Amino acid sequence: MDMFKSGDVVKVLIPNVVNTGYDYRLNAPAEIGTFVECRIMNRAYIGVVWGIGDSGLPENKIKSVVRVMDKSLPVETLQWIKRMSDWTLMTPGAVLKLIINIPDAFSPPRVEQLYSFDFDAKLRMTESRQSIADAFTSNENEPMAVNDIVNIAHVSQSVVRGMIKNGTLIASESRAIENENRFIYAYHDMGNVKLNAEQSAAADKISNALWHGGFSVFLLDGITGSGKTQVYFDSALRAYKAGKSVLLMMPEIALTAQFMSRFESRFGAPPVVWHSNLTAARRRDIWRGVLSGDIRIVVGTRSALFLPWQNLGLIVVDEEHDTSYKQEDMGNYHARDMAILRASIEKIPVVLASATPSEETLENVANGKYTGLKLNSRFGGATLPKIETIDLRENRPEPYRTSNGENASDIAGALSGPLCDAIHETLNNHQQVMLFINRRGFAPIVQCRKCGWVATCDDCSVGMNYHKRIGKLMCHMCGHVEPMPDKCPNCGDDISTRGVGVEKIESEIAARFPNARTALVSSDTIASRQSLERIVSKMESGEIDIVIGTQILAKGHHFPNLTLVGVVDADMGLFGTDFRAAEHTFQQLFQVAGRAGRGEFPGRVLLQTYQPDHPVLMAICAGNRDEFMQADMDGRRVAKMPPYGQLIAVVVEGNKESVLQKYCADLAAVAPNIVGGKIMGPVPAQVYQVRNWYRMRFLISGDVRAKLQPIVANWIAHIKQPANIRVKIDVNPVNFM
Ligand SMILES: [Zn+2]
Ligand SMILES: [Zn+2]
Repeated sequence: MDMFKSGDVVKVLIPNVVNTGYDYRLNAPAEIGTFVECRIMNRAYIGVVWGIGDSGLPENKIKSVVRVMDKSLPVETLQWIKRMSDWTLMTPGAVLKLIINIPDAFSPPRVEQLYSFDFDAKLRMTESRQSIADAFTSNENEPMAVNDIVNIAHVSQSVVRGMIKNGTLIASESRAIENENRFIYAYHDMGNVKLNAEQSAAADKISNALWHGGFSVFLLDGITGSGKTQVYFDSALRAYKAGKSVLLMMPEIALTAQFMSRFESRFGAPPVVWHSNLTAARRRDIWRGVLSGDIRIVVGTRSALFLPWQNLGLIVVDEEHDTSYKQEDMGNYHARDMAILRASIEKIPVVLASATPSEETLENVANGKYTGLKLNSRFGGATLPKIETIDLRENRPEPYRTSNGENASDIAGALSGPLCDAIHETLNNHQQVMLFINRRGFAPIVQCRKCGWVATCDDCSVGMNYHKRIGKLMCHMCGHVEPMPDKCPNCGDDISTRGVGVEKIESEIAARFPNARTALVSSDTIASRQSLERIVSKMESGEIDIVIGTQILAKGHHFPNLTLVGVVDADMGLFGTDFRAAEHTFQQLFQVAGRAGRGEFPGRVLLQTYQPDHPVLMAICAGNRDEFMQADMDGRRVAKMPPYGQLIAVVVEGNKESVLQKYCADLAAVAPNIVGGKIMGPVPAQVYQVRNWYRMRFLISGDVRAKLQPIVANWIAHIKQPANIRVKIDVNPVNFM
């Protein structure tokens, strides 16, 4: 351990995107990783001691730190920051910013006016009132400051002020919350879950790894309902009992009430939950609790990986294939991969869990780097649903008639005869139906029938989608909305919509099954996890007959009375532009199929398609996950695509086309040679324009073992970056837009 004395000059890393560290003089002893407060241009920052000062500045130019804290990040965490920076090409300061993201983590809590929500108020539930109610629910109804409400519910200050005035929000206390211990629980195995033989075997293997220490990766591979959760709960309890900290990471959508209560009944106390919708006070208390080592189990989304963990003993990544682990806005990183990197440095086991593991993970099981643990049996004896295709070439959907009185007209349908028959039958049996279509809105294309004019976003080079619910056109790239025109703005003729979104299916169902009670689930109608859970509980209580939705529906909910799943357009996604299209389609359809027949009744899944012979669909129908994955991986091996090769995407954006083109040409002119790989581009990105910024992209490929990152970093550093140019580097990109 490097100990520094008072007066020593050290390099301090500041949580700042452009930062690689500045030299400061210590005014008290510190070690590598110690938190220090320092000033830059009269602003106070919390940073960490990163190493010996090496700026070579004269003594009198080096400022002193303001204060040295009595808390540190473990040396392993600093190594991880460094390695993560090398891998993602984010600066170390940008990575540290993900860890130090609590503004007043080291100051006394703020004194603020807090408000609580009056759930008993007999007021109409408007959309914003519902969002605010949900914000309180996600924080266990603790009183909140106005800023918290605005940030979490995504409403304006004036909406909040209005609700304070009308009494929906009640002033509660005007003091700081100072109960930092409120999240410190003691856990122990309640002993109320008996693992079956398969589960015990898997749990024992992980337990062995925990006992012996060292880095290892397990894939807990089993279909929905096979009991993966109880296996990793077992491992978590063992690590906790041994005095270690445990991170259980999952996609936001999986943090359900169902999950929380399972946790509490097994662990004897509720989990500490970490996600993006917490109040500032809650974030602060949890962050400090983790730093002090008093909070040792956290259930959270990808950002929980960046808590100031002490003595980490186990990381679980549930739904490891989920694309929500990939962060793309503020620096590009994959939280699953960074968790594995972290575990390798901490020398601890990681457990990945999934019913449809990613091909990267399956390849690492195949080559022996990871240990595969299979769970085959479905719990409670429920059988897997029967999966069949409906050939749309032979079963063209009939038009349907709107019951609009005089204005009744025939509308082209999207639901085929066999699917409608199956829906009828299911409803007659008083069972439930789920219809899945992965497209928001009513229709993706709005076009003039006469002159061919197409509604496009002014700021982005993409078409506008028609959203009937709000009666507007919406750009799915930038979110811009505008009114739906009555007539073609170009020639004045009639406008038509083409393609099918969830809203269109909803109106077709309303016409064909007027008595069915339906619910629509898409990111436009579901603003929060709570609003999804309201639909879930209505499904459970039988208040909904048919639920229609996008991929939000694919995630693990258990509906015993759901026996029919219809996939409206199984072809969508099969022919995407990136090499993961087939894999992602397979995973999604497989997950959707897993929703049916989880109770005592067998389930049925119908996939509407024009290509019933497509290998992805045939593999899904046969339930042949492993065979499908193998075939897809063979294709990737030939094409040297990940995991058999590496890719780095460099997207260059500029608000002046000429400057952007010149800069890209300059980069291309100095592109280095890569042994066994190449630099492709520049080409216009698939979406060339977003919010009036133009986008070009390079794609760099290389062998599995090639060290591409330093090559790319040196190359980009070669050409001076003009003003108003943004360079985004994405290692192992998932999104190819
Ligand atoms: Zn026209
Ligand atoms: Zn747009």
